[in-house]
Amino acid sequence: MWTALLFVALLTLQASAPEPATAFVGATVLPMDSERRLEDHTIVVREGRIVSVGPRASTPVPENARTIHASGRFLMPGLVDMHVHTWSEVDTPMFLAYGVTTVRNLFGNPQHLAWRAQIEKGERTGPSLITAGPILDGDPPVWPGSLVVTDAEKAAAAVQTHVDEGYDFIKVYNRLPLEAYEAVVAKARLANLPIDGHTPDAVGYERVLAAGQRTVEHMSGIGLVVTAKAPGAGWAGDNAGWAQVDPERQALWVERSAAAGVWLCPTFVVFQKMVEPENIASELARGHMRYVAPFTREFWKNMNARMTPEGRAASRDSVKPRMAFFKAFVDAGGRAILGTDMGNPLVVPGYSVHEELANFVAAGLSTYQALSAATRGPAECLGLTAEFGTVAPGRRADLLLLEADPLLDVNNARAIQGVMVRGRWLPREELQRSLDELLGN
Ligand SMILES: [Zn+2]
Repeated sequence: MWTALLFVALLTLQASAPEPATAFVGATVLPMDSERRLEDHTIVVREGRIVSVGPRASTPVPENARTIHASGRFLMPGLVDMHVHTWSEVDTPMFLAYGVTTVRNLFGNPQHLAWRAQIEKGERTGPSLITAGPILDGDPPVWPGSLVVTDAEKAAAAVQTHVDEGYDFIKVYNRLPLEAYEAVVAKARLANLPIDGHTPDAVGYERVLAAGQRTVEHMSGIGLVVTAKAPGAGWAGDNAGWAQVDPERQALWVERSAAAGVWLCPTFVVFQKMVEPENIASELARGHMRYVAPFTREFWKNMNARMTPEGRAASRDSVKPRMAFFKAFVDAGGRAILGTDMGNPLVVPGYSVHEELANFVAAGLSTYQALSAATRGPAECLGLTAEFGTVAPGRRADLLLLEADPLLDVNNARAIQGVMVRGRWLPREELQRSLDELLGN
């Protein structure tokens, strides 16, 4: 009887008592709203949200709060990978271990919608998911599972599917015919759904800019407009285009791109990783690769083998001129987001974000610009600045605690002491433990 009463009392207490707060005390905060450091600050988190950010001396730590001593450490927003292809739960520990707390998925299906809902409800720990529906492509599509859209009627149906099922945006692809693209743009505008993706071959980059497409992935289609000679279409043509950039045409398209307000997601890392088959073994021998499942390694080898030697070389060679365009674009006020095309050969979940951050700096961006493209930039692009991308009261508690200052050297963003995802604190030991659990796969 007494036990039962006590039990009821405890239950009531549990239901009404707020979850204890967590406080990071004494951190140097990089809020990423501008290039600044807030020294010796306290950040309080409660129920998945940041509730206060202030100087340690004047910011009280709530009673019963869990305290994380952060003196001498750096606290920044969690990282975003704006171009992933995640198909399996085995990616989650790697995203989190490398500090990635939000991903934009560029080829979605109902499974992604279920994951997105579970993560939002706290039933599943992982990076927040923003997902496209199935790719919209022409006939035949490049990838199986795409929605084939060849006319206005099919465009309307495809957009309606996205609305009904709740996808976050539409992804357009290379073989979409011009009429279909225009119909998709018109329908999506009515439905208030953003369009992200490639530059369809038949549409061309100029019309993609004019249509107000939100992002251009891989800077696709740009190689063809900045080149002196028309070298053909498609991926290979694009890479060949980058081999013969005309400086005057480049300046023109840099200016037009920046003026159009398009977000460019260059994914340099995926082009770098199109290595020759004989180099795959040495790439797979690198330390972080041991967490990659055997079925993924096999898939990567097969995908790599399907490319021609010329195609692989042209991809790698295109990285330098792509970087030059991108740097000029950012200097002109162009809007940059960082994505990796994770899922493609040798592009590892999470780890590749750090490779791409280093690529942005190699392209000539400042460390602050590079980190912005993986934090605040994505939130602005997606219209979610109230949710993530900066450290401020009200934001989701997606945070990265680092041992060294990433504004001094962007590689310091790898020195991860712990990750907070939606208020759940994962210290380094726990991140490592979940990585080690992947070794049995
Ligand atoms: Zn992709």
